[in-house]
Order: sequence, then structure tokens, then C-alpha cells
Amino acid sequence: MNMSENPHDQSVVQRSRQVERLIAGQPTSDGAGVKLTRVLTQDLQRRLDPFLMLDAFGSANPDDYIAGFPDHPHRGFETVTYMIAGRMLHRDSAGHESLLEKGGVQWMTAGRGVIHSEIPQQTDGVMEGFQLWLNLPGRDKMNPPWYRDFKAQELPVLTTDAGVQVTVIAGKSHGVTGAVCREGTQPIYLDIHLPAGSRFDQVLPAAHNAFVYVYRGDVGIAGHQVPCQRMALLANHAFADGVVIEAVTDARLLLIAGQPLLEPIAQYGPFVMNTQEEIHQAIRDFREGQLGETASL
Ligand code: MN
Repeated sequence: MNMSENPHDQSVVQRSRQVERLIAGQPTSDGAGVKLTRVLTQDLQRRLDPFLMLDAFGSANPDDYIAGFPDHPHRGFETVTYMIAGRMLHRDSAGHESLLEKGGVQWMTAGRGVIHSEIPQQTDGVMEGFQLWLNLPGRDKMNPPWYRDFKAQELPVLTTDAGVQVTVIAGKSHGVTGAVCREGTQPIYLDIHLPAGSRFDQVLPAAHNAFVYVYRGDVGIAGHQVPCQRMALLANHAFADGVVIEAVTDARLLLIAGQPLLEPIAQYGPFVMNTQEEIHQAIRDFREGQLGETASL
């Protein structure tokens, strides 16, 4: 049975959200000079609460990525790194070391503090992926750090009757529970591969903020075309029960949604807290060597 023809299927969306705006992102560099596109920029943090940042990196030129991200701190939020191609070594002050490879996800809850490095393990070839920053509720910002990495084969994957393949990194889709769930922000993070002409429905609570980033091909959402390398910010209509995505060509995209925290956001670089005083404390703790769990790397 085609699930889109079953009126009782709770995965079917009756009325799709519309595209509020398309965003191209800003070319920039970070770390020791890694070229990337900041798709979710700081000016969108309130609109896309609880998400703070999305970076897309992708290059076949080693000069664009080889320097990587040497030791740097984080406090007050979570980082989610998703590799499409390439190999990156992560080491952190909590003693974790792992190789991030094609299709793998690293989920790091910085909590009260992590110092880590992310260094490419290749001198040529393509390096491609995404890093998402997800805020923590104020009550969880000073929790101990948490870390998991998932190889591609450890991530739940579902395939719909239309042949759409979905990797469920976080949240729930078509009855499949993702690798990570979070109570405070209830994130949904899906990597969706659509054959040309196919359709995919994702149920979303109307109050949750949501966006799509297309990284292969073109799609349509509620009559609005979303081309490759564009983020579509999805409107929060009270009448909409989710989003319907239709593939114009073969397409691959990220669909990300979460429950807004509605708390003040104070950010200074890699520290995201609720107040300036908490930011000053983070800077002091880092300078005094009190931010990471252990001093040695
Ligand atoms: Mn980092």
C-alpha cells in the first residue's frame, strides 16, 4: 500500500508549511582557515531558535580544509557534525578521540565545557559535511559534557514506498526513532534522499521552528522552488501539520526542526549562554584552564 494514500497514516501531512524565505548563506572561514558557507547566521538565531548555526563545508581543494579546527572551547550548547565525504579526527578534553567518516555523525553536548580539535585526515580528495549548533535550555547549560559518535551503519534509515531514503539522525520520522532524542529542544534532524518526482511528508508541530537545506538537486515545497545550496525557512502556520517536499530532480537535503527555547541568547564566539555575566564567567574559566574536564589533551 502506498502510505500517502492511507488517510489513517499519521505520517501523512494534510497541509504543508510554506516557504517563508530562501537563504543563500555567507561564505566565510573558520578554525585555522577552513572555507565554508554559514547557512544559518547569527541574525537567524531568534527566528530559528533553538538552532544557533549551520555551516556547510564542501571542497575538493585541500587548501580549503587542510588546516582544520585546532584546539578551541565550547560551552552552553550542542554541536552536531555530519560527514558526507572525507575523514576528520576529533579529540577532546573529556578524553574522547574518534575518526569521523563518510555518513557518520558526531553529537557533542558541550555543557559546562569542552576543548576539542577537529583535524582532516586526508591530504587530497573531497571533504564535505555540515555542522549544526543546537542550543541547550538554561538549566542544562552547565551539565557535564556528553559525546557520541555514530558510524553511518549505526544510524537508523527508513525507505518510503516512494523510494525516499531517510537517515534519522535525531527525532522521529515515519515511526522510526533517530539516533539522538532531546527532551528540551525535541530536535528533528533528517538527511533525505529523494528520487526525481517523489514526495516526502514530515509531520511537524506548528510551533516548532524548521528549515530545509538542499545540497543536491532541486525540490519544491508548497509551490515554492528550492534550488540546490539554498536554505528554505519554513513558515509556522497554525493550520499546517508538517511539510511536504517534492523532488524536481534527484535531490538530497537536510530537514531540521526543533522546539524553541524562548530564552535570552548571549553569544561570544564558541560560548552560548543566557546572560553576559555567564559569558564573562566562561571566558574567565577558559583563561584559567577551568573549562575543559581535564587539562591534558
Ligand atoms: Mn568545535
